[in-house]
Amino acid sequence: MQQLTFQERKQERKDNYEKYVKGWKEIPCIACNGTGYYDDFNSPKCESCNGTGKTKVNPEEYKEYMKLRNL
Ligand SMILES: [Zn+2]
Repeated sequence: MQQLTFQERKQERKDNYEKYVKGWKEIPCIACNGTGYYDDFNSPKCESCNGTGKTKVNPEEYKEYMKLRNL
C-alpha cells in the first residue's frame, strides 16, 4: 500500500471536515422535542439525543428541519 504524502493527508482531513463537520447544526431533538425525555414526567431519557435535548444534523437534514418548522 502506498503511503500518503503530506499533501494527500491534508486533503483527506479537509474532505472529512467538509463531510462531517462543516455546516452541521445543532437543533432541538425531534424525538423528544428538545426536552431530553420522551414525556414530561418520570420517563426515561431520550435515546435519540441521550438526554441532551439536542441533536446534530447535516446541512440537508437541517434544511428539511427548517422547512418543517416554517409550515
Ligand atoms: Zn431527544
